[in-house]
Amino acid sequence: MNCFNHVTTPAVAICKNCNKGLCPDCLTEIKNGIACTATCIDEVKSINGLIERNKNLSNRAVSTYNRMVFIYGSMGLLFIYAAYIYPELNLYMYPAGGLFLLIGILTFIANKKRYKSNN
Ligand SMILES: [Zn+2]
Ligand SMILES: [Zn+2]
Repeated sequence: MNCFNHVTTPAVAICKNCNKGLCPDCLTEIKNGIACTATCIDEVKSINGLIERNKNLSNRAVSTYNRMVFIYGSMGLLFIYAAYIYPELNLYMYPAGGLFLLIGILTFIANKKRYKSNN
């Protein structure tokens, strides 16, 4: 393939946005890619921005889930600890603690799956 602008010059790269062949004089190197005109540079930059934002969003979701696992887990342990200290509350504390631990474990598993699908 030859350069889109200079038909006799062999292309060394391809614009990430419009897929035109580009010679060293015509290409602009930007983050994560090569673009030709100013329009294409903006286009590629906004695509990169979108990808970046998506990544950040899913990472934030994962860390929110991690925090939930931690909260549920410590609530569960707290209830079980309370049941241990106050045996007369056993009847309420053990099921409640178990429930929180269960929710924590389920959230943890869901989070694992989510994390895997992101990578
Ligand atoms: Zn282009
Ligand atoms: Zn050129």
